[in-house]
Order: sequence, then structure tokens, then C-alpha cells
Amino acid sequence: MTSPLQRDSVAVHAGREDLTALGVHALPLDLSSTNPLPDISRGGESYEAMAAGGYPLPDGGAVYARLWNPTVARFETALARLEHTDAAVAFGSGMAAMTAAILAHTTMIGRRHVVAVRPLYGGTDHLLATGLLGAEVTYCDEAHVGAAIRPDTGLVVLETPANPTLDLVDIAAVVAQAGGVPVLVDNTFATPVLQNPVPLGAAMALHSATKYLGGHGDVVAGVIACDEETAARLRQVRAVTGGLLHPLGGYLLHRGLTTLPIRVRAQQENAVRVAAWLAAHPAVDRVFYPGADGDPRGLLRRQMRGTGAMIAVALRGGFEAATRLTSGTRLFTHAVSLGGVDSLIQHPAALTHRPVAAEARPSANLVRLSIGLEHVDDLVQDLDQALTATAGAPVLASTR
Ligand code: PLP
Repeated sequence: MTSPLQRDSVAVHAGREDLTALGVHALPLDLSSTNPLPDISRGGESYEAMAAGGYPLPDGGAVYARLWNPTVARFETALARLEHTDAAVAFGSGMAAMTAAILAHTTMIGRRHVVAVRPLYGGTDHLLATGLLGAEVTYCDEAHVGAAIRPDTGLVVLETPANPTLDLVDIAAVVAQAGGVPVLVDNTFATPVLQNPVPLGAAMALHSATKYLGGHGDVVAGVIACDEETAARLRQVRAVTGGLLHPLGGYLLHRGLTTLPIRVRAQQENAVRVAAWLAAHPAVDRVFYPGADGDPRGLLRRQMRGTGAMIAVALRGGFEAATRLTSGTRLFTHAVSLGGVDSLIQHPAALTHRPVAAEARPSANLVRLSIGLEHVDDLVQDLDQALTATAGAPVLASTR
């Protein structure tokens, strides 16, 4: 008996098992929008199988790319291995994935209520608040999930670490309170390298694959890892609503997975040092970083394998200081998104969390940092000069 592969090896090899037999080394990229049909009846049967959330029939063909694409399917296989799930379903964005998860657990099964644990990414919070998908939402904190559950609750949504304040939510405790209602965990910040929500009892682990999974700022995508039954419903929604991932995105994400573990570890190493440096800076009121408070509930230890590479800082100088910091960095690009090889800085209240209701919006002095792979001394130096400018000196012209 051979022992199971380590995570780093899975990241490099999953979804590629048949390549040698195919006589190729790199991932095949199939850009076909349509596929030749063997004959009317087998093609029709294959279509029907996929429209119901299943797979193409072996001799029936993939029929049409909105139903199935082999390059995307390879990425899904690899991501499922990393998340320890039966299956994964990829979408054209993280929000398309979230939309499919909500539809599949509410209107599609005759339920209409969602419990959402705040804080959440602004887009997710807003999507639920609009009622656009026919679902009604109750927002609560982790302690009140049980009280918020109703007979028609179809889904519980949480993020941990949460965007943007890095709050940690006890996944197993929420699952226990949900009492059988499926729990979706947005695992974007942790990545499967640092956290696997499904073995902890969650029904689904969702990623904005735009972030760490792609890792290079050139793909917009989403993916949900789950059991096969849930995956079939999600594929059904994807086929009907058309929220599919383009095969080139699937190819780039699959390639991105190979370096995911080393990128996350190296970015985390930088982030630990940047967070410690920020905590000692006089312009900084508070640093939000997993473990910065000493992990009083033991969540880091119980459900994570590291602290990640996202940091938020509350500045003593309020919104004005935040404005000057975000426009004063040279190496950190002032831009939304996160998780790439290069460092980004942004103001959640004005941008990513702008559509969130005022009572749940991040504070005006909060700035979010996504720590990349640059040398940590250069990152610290960049923040130092920008914070010095924040403290009163004129902001130097950017050399970006
Ligand atoms: N979830 C989290 C935690 C995010 O940060 C984002 C985007 O920033 C999303 C979901 C939405 O993903 P996308 O932008 O790929 O639609």
C-alpha cells in the first residue's frame, strides 16, 4: 500500500493522472464551444445527462461547452482533491459561484431563507440583501446562528477568515447550530492550503478563485468544493444560468494550483513580519491578523494550518490617514482584489464593502493589505514611507 500524497504533491499532480497515457506533459486546453455529435439519440441522451447535473456519456460527446468542458473539469478534480471533497464545480466568478449555491439551496428546493454570518465580502453581503435571487436573509454573528434558523432556512453562509477584518468563525460550532442546514464556508482567504472546511462539517467550501488559486491577477473565477450530490445541483444551475468558467481560466487556475502551497507559505511568511512591524508603528491603532489577539478560542490551532497573508490595519488618523496611506505606497498597488504574487492595498469601506449596510460597513480608518511575494524589507520600507507621509509629510509622487 502506498501512502497518500502530501498536499504539495497533490497540488502539482492532481487532475493530470492521464497525461502520460495521452502522450502529453502540459495540460490540454480545449477551447471548443461545441462538439461533434455521434448521432441524434446518443447526443441527446448525453445532453440530458448533463442538463440534469451529470457527466457527458462516454459515447455521447460533451455536446456544448455551457454544459461541460474537459479543461475546466480537470481543474475541478484537482481542487476537489485539495479540499478533500468528492467534487468541485467551477464558475465564471466567485459571485457566480455564490449565486449558484444560493439558488441550489433556496428556490431550487422550495426554501427561501438564508442565514448569513457577518462580516462577509461586500459583494456577498449585498447579493443577499438585494433579495434578487428570491431569498430572504437574516444576518447575525456566530453566536446567534441557531436562533436565526427557521423551518424554511436552506443555507448558512460564513467566511473565515472574514473579509476584511480577518475575524475567525468556528466552523464546527456553526455547523452544530445549523442543525442539518447546509453550511457554506467562503474559504478564499485561507485557501485549501491552510484550511479545509468540508472535513470540519461544512457542506461546501467556496473560493473566489480570482484570488490565491489563480495567484497572478489574470483570471476571474469561482469554485465550490462539495459532495457529488450537491455538485450535481450546482452543475444544473450552472448549465441553466450560464455561469460557466472559460476553459482558458480553468487552464490558468489548474496551473496556478501547482505553486499554491509554496506561494501561500512564502506570502504568509512576509505577512507575519509585516503584521508585527505594523503593530509597533505609532500611526497604527490596531492590526487585524489571525492570531494577533493570541487566538483566545483556539480556532487557529483547531481549524487552520497557518495565519495567511491578508492583513487589515485601523489607523489612528482616521479616513484622511487611510487616504494618504493608500495613495502613498509605491510597491503596493492601490487596487481591489487580493491573493496574487504582488502586494495590493485598498480601503474596504469605500470599495469592496461599499454596498454593505452602514451598520455592518468597515470603519473609515480601516485599510486592507494583501501581502505578496516581494522581499519583506521592501514591503516594510514602502509602508514606512507611506505611513510617514500619513503622519503629516507631503505624499511623494508615485513611481509606479
Ligand atoms: N468571496 C470573497 C472573500 C472575496 O474577497 C470575493 C471578491 O473579492 C468574492 C467572494 C467574489 O469573488 P469574485 O470577485 O471572483 O466574483
